[in-house]
Amino acid sequence: MIDRRKFIERVAAVSALSLVPNIIKSQSSILPLDLNTDNLPLFISTWNHGIEANEAAMQVLVNGGSIVDAVEQGVWIPEADPNNRSVGIGGYPDREGHVTLDASIMGPDGNAGSVCFLENIMHPISVARLVMDSTPHVMLSGDGALQFALENGFKKENLLTPATEKAWKKELIETGYDPKPNWENEPNKYHDTIGLLGVDSAGDIAGACTTSGMGFKMRGRVGDSPIIGAGLFVDNEIGAATATGMGELVMKTVGSFLVVELMRNGRTPQQAVEEAVLRIVNKVPDHKKYQIGFIAVNKQGDTGAYCLQPGFNYALYQNNQNILIDSNSYYK
Ligand code: ASP
Repeated sequence: MIDRRKFIERVAAVSALSLVPNIIKSQSSILPLDLNTDNLPLFISTWNHGIEANEAAMQVLVNGGSIVDAVEQGVWIPEADPNNRSVGIGGYPDREGHVTLDASIMGPDGNAGSVCFLENIMHPISVARLVMDSTPHVMLSGDGALQFALENGFKKENLLTPATEKAWKKELIETGYDPKPNWENEPNKYHDTIGLLGVDSAGDIAGACTTSGMGFKMRGRVGDSPIIGAGLFVDNEIGAATATGMGELVMKTVGSFLVVELMRNGRTPQQAVEEAVLRIVNKVPDHKKYQIGFIAVNKQGDTGAYCLQPGFNYALYQNNQNILIDSNSYYK
């Protein structure tokens, strides 16, 4: 685990020196009449690592950063943690031993950026941010994303740690060097994306999502996390959603977009995430083997979380409290 105080100091220093290029301030929107600023600002994020991500994100807001800065820099914490097996450095590699990263970010102005199948970059979320801020595109992949990152001052790093190299070799032996991922038997063992959603005190919304994807995946496999509308979606008029778990199920149902559209049609965030999980149950025949979790927030600061199987939790930082909460699940 990295020293959090040092990391936050580094975050502040990096912001101040603008070493992460093209950080822009988010544009404030016109507040709807029913905006309940008592609930704001807030951050909600997936899994245990959400606590530290929320904390860093809130610190960025307190220091005067925008909501986009906050979600980006919040997820830097798990990305930089070598003991985190599902995000950034120390994330499980693919079946060929390469750590390949997916990340996406979306701001209140409706702009979005993402990278997928990116290797050797510690903070894929910041490459996604740069795609959003400085290119006319939404997604860069693989070698092109790496080239873009290197041209913009990001440094190449080895993200395979001794511990994950050992785990990878063990996995290959245990599965008899089967080229197919071993998700059938232990589908919930090898994942845990960080998805972080934030609403600032003006009601402006942003989200960030970053992952090393399913552990020991097929080479070239990309999950839901970098797909705008699947792993992450933000609509500043309505709210935001992000997903974790077996990305293929989320991609087949465009899960995060679905959650936001359900909120647009009047559902609360909780009703919306439950309906998105139900959609997977009804549409994806083999869903029972897998885990999926959604979190959502609306512009008023109401939140929701729901998952397929027991075991998903999330972190909510609201009203000066940053707490871990167990999500309810469809299967008990
Ligand atoms: N959704 C991610 C993926 O499918 C994995 C995860 O959330 O852990 O790549």
